[in-house]
Amino acid sequence: MQFTRERVMHELKRRTLRVTNVTQVAPDYARITVTSPELEGFEAPGPADHIKLIFGEAHGRPIMRDYTPLNFRETAEGYELDIDMVLHETDGPASDWAKEAAPGQLIQQAGPRGSKLAPAGITEMVLVADETAFPAVTRWLDAVSDDVTVHKFFFTVDERMRAYFDDQDDITWFDIDEAPEGIMAELRKLNITDTTFAFLAGEATTITPLRRYLRREAGIRLDQLDAQGYWKRGVAELDHHEPLDPEDPDE
Ligand SMILES: Cc1cc2nc3c(=O)[nH]c(=O)nc-3n(C[C@H](O)[C@H](O)[C@H](O)COP(=O)(O)OP(=O)(O)OC[C@H]3O[C@@H](n4cnc5c(N)ncnc54)[C@H](O)[C@@H]3O)c2cc1C
Repeated sequence: MQFTRERVMHELKRRTLRVTNVTQVAPDYARITVTSPELEGFEAPGPADHIKLIFGEAHGRPIMRDYTPLNFRETAEGYELDIDMVLHETDGPASDWAKEAAPGQLIQQAGPRGSKLAPAGITEMVLVADETAFPAVTRWLDAVSDDVTVHKFFFTVDERMRAYFDDQDDITWFDIDEAPEGIMAELRKLNITDTTFAFLAGEATTITPLRRYLRREAGIRLDQLDAQGYWKRGVAELDHHEPLDPEDPDE
């Protein structure tokens, strides 16, 4: 058994989107709905697809951050896209913009450039995520069938963010500082099989030892794993295409 994930490439488009609605999905966590006729043909079929939001320019270079396109739909009013954005404490162009977002405001957006589809044949799923990856987790849960056994180990910087999943009672929660050890202990209890798939995303230094455990000790294959640093403490504009764990030869 080997998981295969189809890759779909998209025409790279840059769009101007208009904010139509801002709601709270949890305290300090905003759902920002945007619209534009330029969203015609928008596609993001991969559960962990990402788009770029662009916040002007600095030194001739666009200021961009990655976000998950949570829901895309066509309504009587036009095309709409929901983006859930954490309003974190430290200043950053994306979070600062989201704190002030209001209907009528414009935002530049690009992508997704490509999509990696969920593989077929998953019987068991391990989800490790912090608040930045809750939209991606939501999309993974939609992508796998109902008979898949799902293990959810989530952690938060701000525990009020847990309200995001108020409707789910099968989550084991951790604070970010206790997450590496706490989640590791949970992973050790699992019986990883040939058809288990693991998606790990969130603060990079928290995810790294968990990825390392799954690869080196639990013996998970590379095709069974998608581990991503979505942000890193003390680092602005983390590039998630850089290896999460540079010490790991298989990254
Ligand atoms: C593929 C992908 C998908 C993503 N999807 C989402 C999404 O759907 N929703 C979402 O909210 N985020 C998402 N993120 C994470 C988001 O891109 C980062 O949090 C980004 O750093 C935010 O940019 P910023 O301008 O606010 O902060 P930056 O300028 O990048 O960073 C400024 C400071 O804030 C800190 N910081 C950044 N993010 C956080 C945080 N969440 N909590 C606490 N401190 C933080 C940094 O460590 C730094 O010290 C995703 C990231 C990737 C790679």
